Amino acid sequence: MTLGGAGSADGQTLYIDGKWAAASSGGVFEVTDPATGDVIGQASDASASDAEQAIGAAAAAFGGWSRRTAYERSEALYRAHAIMTARADELARLMTHEQGKPLRAARNEVNYGADFLIWYAEEAKRVYGATIPAPRADQRFTVLRQPVGVVAAITPWNYPISMITRKVGPAVAAGCTIILKPAEQTPLCAIEMFKIFDEAGFPPGVVNLLTTDHPAEVADPLLDSPLVRKLTFTGSTEIGMMLAARAAATMKRVSMELGGHAPFIVLEDADVARAAKGAALVKFLNTGQACISPNRIYVHRSRIEQFLDVLVGRVNGMKAGSGFTSGISIGPLIDDQAMAKMERQVSDATSKGAAVLTGGRRLTENDLGRGRFYAPTVLGDVTSDMQVYSEETFGPIAPVIAFDSEEEVLTAANSTTYGLASYLYTNDIAKATRISEDLKFGIIGINDINPTAAAAPFGGTKYSGLGREGGVQGLDEYLDTKLIGLSLP
Ligand code: NAP
Repeated sequence: MTLGGAGSADGQTLYIDGKWAAASSGGVFEVTDPATGDVIGQASDASASDAEQAIGAAAAAFGGWSRRTAYERSEALYRAHAIMTARADELARLMTHEQGKPLRAARNEVNYGADFLIWYAEEAKRVYGATIPAPRADQRFTVLRQPVGVVAAITPWNYPISMITRKVGPAVAAGCTIILKPAEQTPLCAIEMFKIFDEAGFPPGVVNLLTTDHPAEVADPLLDSPLVRKLTFTGSTEIGMMLAARAAATMKRVSMELGGHAPFIVLEDADVARAAKGAALVKFLNTGQACISPNRIYVHRSRIEQFLDVLVGRVNGMKAGSGFTSGISIGPLIDDQAMAKMERQVSDATSKGAAVLTGGRRLTENDLGRGRFYAPTVLGDVTSDMQVYSEETFGPIAPVIAFDSEEEVLTAANSTTYGLASYLYTNDIAKATRISEDLKFGIIGINDINPTAAAAPFGGTKYSGLGREGGVQGLDEYLDTKLIGLSLP
């Protein structure tokens, strides 16, 4: 099956200066369905010269777009939101084909993604400045907040639509123009989103799309051009660190939404059945391919048996398969490298004494071998010398660790270079307050597995990144602060 979605009808999938275009090299690359390995479409393979063209278009459009009223920018976002909502089902189906997540999860992501458009349509009108009392009687201070300029955005495959709107929404609301490079595994979702932006009537050059499977080559001009004033990246810590270092040479603003290694802590007093249900839901969300996926599940020793009973029972009830089959909760892994990582982490853990309580193998029965399916897995007796304890898994493996004291679990939870999400289950408000203040993570869910929304700041500390997306903080990332001092005659 080939999806007709690729860009315009004649397969031109770069969107530059308000027009669909083929890559200047004429090259294309194939897109596959990770559940079957079937080719489902193709996209134009941009190179550095296409990126330079996009930079020129975005720079030329910036003056006009940034001078539009906030109401006009807001209107364009409202229109994009309306078109996106009307196409929600189509977008979700495409996402399930291209990325593999179950259709219900894809629908959730489309709704979450659409929220960023409407939330920033509203927030565009609230970019307030300030007046500040000045030290001299003849002086007045005014503070303006102005768009940073041309933005380069690079997004991953695991949330192929919401990671786009989480950047495009606030950038254009602020008055910036933007060039997006989506992940090479999921260009079709990006193309559909840019058809929506096109129909919403953004002026030429305001939003630009570069599909490519040569990320480094396309990123070079985006990183090196002094015309690009901001880099916003979502992806792995390794690539994020490299890109941030490059962006420093032209002193760009950077936002980095990087990897995570979330602790999930269940205290002695917690509602253990609820905690185990929460762990099963959030750990296997998107088949574990989420930056906020729990990577270390710490359970008080006195409750671990009960916790594992519920968790393993729930995991045993999970079905793997095509996201289009009803009742499926485990979709495919995105590529062979991801499969190799699951196999390596489980073999390393078992060689060091971990117990496989369920799963622990590739699934090949009932045609699953055509895709890359790994059984949802629970590991017991996990220790800190195992790879799974410190390396981001990004797959359906839940490592469970017993602890004895609050101090011990807090130290263990914080002993990671990552600092994105963390979870705490307790019914003791004093403990919840104390521990959440001491956890060194950007996001904390207390008895809650989904502490995210368009209105809320999302982001990490330490190697999980810089800056926030969502909420008013997400708009600040695209604004410079300008002080005007006026001397009265
Ligand atoms: P990735 O390998 O770092 O890729 C992310 C993006 O960077 C893709 O568009 C990729 O393009 C591009 N890229 C790769 N090498 C590049 C280079 N040399 N120059 C410029 N761009 C380059 O990450 P991923 O595997 O797609 O995503 C998984 C990671 O993202 C995980 O670590 C996850 O935790 C993190 N993530 C974080 C958040 C958050 O909000 N904190 C959200 C979602 C995911 P290609 O696809 O063409 O290689």
